Amino acid sequence: MNTLRLTVLVENTTRRQGLMAEHGLALWIEAGDKQILFDAGQSGVLRHNAGQLGINLGAADAIVLSHGHYDHTGGLAAMPLTEASRRVCRNGEDKTGVQPVRVFGHEQAFTDKYSRRPGQAARDIGMARYTRQTLQTATALTLTDAPTEIGEGISVTGPIPRHTDFEDVGGPFFKDEACREPDDLIDDQAAFVDTSNGIVIILGCAHSGIINTLRYVRELLPKRPIHTVIGGTHLVTANEVRIRRTVEALREFEIQRLIPLHCTGFAAAARLWNEFPGHVSTCPAGSRLELNP
Ligand SMILES: [Zn+2]
Ligand SMILES: [Zn+2]
Repeated sequence: MNTLRLTVLVENTTRRQGLMAEHGLALWIEAGDKQILFDAGQSGVLRHNAGQLGINLGAADAIVLSHGHYDHTGGLAAMPLTEASRRVCRNGEDKTGVQPVRVFGHEQAFTDKYSRRPGQAARDIGMARYTRQTLQTATALTLTDAPTEIGEGISVTGPIPRHTDFEDVGGPFFKDEACREPDDLIDDQAAFVDTSNGIVIILGCAHSGIINTLRYVRELLPKRPIHTVIGGTHLVTANEVRIRRTVEALREFEIQRLIPLHCTGFAAAARLWNEFPGHVSTCPAGSRLELNP
């Protein structure tokens, strides 16, 4: 692979004129000759920001769904390639010359998802039904129930084994509207790229826990250093014990660059910033990162 470039398309913050911010995450990955959309934010912000940044979403070779929550999948409804896929679907065959885009996500990303805070009504936080249907019928969908290569040198983890005793899914998540069946978010997955500098790991929300995720990637690529970790860490709801133990466990990886985004939360981000001086930074929407493999 010659180049690895990441552009933050959607994030909770932005500093760049003309861009919008929302609670959500989407990254544009340029890896060698492949262009990959990793998550899609929650709305048309994806399409707006991509346009402002000169990124053609329709040119994506693949889409990765880190998991099925609305703030990572909602933007798919506004994508031009979904419109193209719809045409293909209606015709029954591809008369448009448009190749169905390749999509990588776990089966459980397509199931109902709810959240309910104490004393409040249940909230539907899953992928929009229309988007689920479009992805399932009109794209080249690969269900990732194991580590899967999506392009040369770039892979997704599939389900992440959970071994730590201090990490959990990070919220009151359920599979049903009555909120009886907890959602363990087995669909949660990360992407990773092995570069000459070390591994670059891209997190969605890290509902499996950031430490479980990093340990699993290290198991998949043993004896390789982890150079960069970027994405949501879902420490926004973490208590002091979890944050302290996460910081302790992070030391074992000697990460060069840690970029906690989206659902990290101010307290955890500030703590990481102080605990790993010189190694932690932010990447608001519009940021571009060049990584030399
Ligand atoms: Zn989530
Ligand atoms: Zn999220």
